Amino acid sequence: MGSIVVVSPHPDDLEIGVGGTVARARAEGRRVVSVVVTDGRRSPRSFECRDDEMAAIRRTEAVAAAKALDLDVPPQLLGLPDVKSEATRRDAREALEARFRGELADHGLAEVFVTHPELDRHATHRTVAEVTLQALVAAIAATGAAAPDVWFYEIWSPFPKVDRLVDIGPFVDVKDRAIAAHASQCRDKDYADGARGLSRYRAVFAESHEVTTGSTHAEGFVRGAL
Ligand SMILES: [Zn+2]
Repeated sequence: MGSIVVVSPHPDDLEIGVGGTVARARAEGRRVVSVVVTDGRRSPRSFECRDDEMAAIRRTEAVAAAKALDLDVPPQLLGLPDVKSEATRRDAREALEARFRGELADHGLAEVFVTHPELDRHATHRTVAEVTLQALVAAIAATGAAAPDVWFYEIWSPFPKVDRLVDIGPFVDVKDRAIAAHASQCRDKDYADGARGLSRYRAVFAESHEVTTGSTHAEGFVRGAL
């Protein structure tokens, strides 16, 4: 099985949206590369600290979360302050294209997970998704490799319909621990509980999807087109 790249607009998006699926993939021995585009310096906070201090805190948290998920590749933190300017979007696009080229050439990149370019309510999530798709198209053209599957994941913007469900029942505790590693973000909101609720809902309403009967939690994805 080829590798998986998960693109996160902010340091905690992978853990919240696709943490259970990543934990499952790692348990199956698959290579998973996490690319985090912004440094999260603008995140809401209930305690005093400067933007650069917040960015440093979030770097440490991202590394701890990657450890909780047993990622075999250190997370690639692009460290951009945001993706509001053409310059930062270009930096993100170039870094992502380089990573995709490497994964396509050396590891048979099979799947890319990113936030939804339209349905996500967060502007940064939508922009990062667009830039990711552009970078992937360019990398495929440059290498001549087969296109990987693209899956959009949910971050607090539940999709009206999903194309794929992954059973994460045995991995919810790992996912909880990975989310909890982002302690600065979990002080005011119980993100792990929110994510658990959504994955519980996905499992209950799995119906004819691929989740087996008796699954307790699932993550849902919408298929992306290049
Ligand atoms: Zn985010």
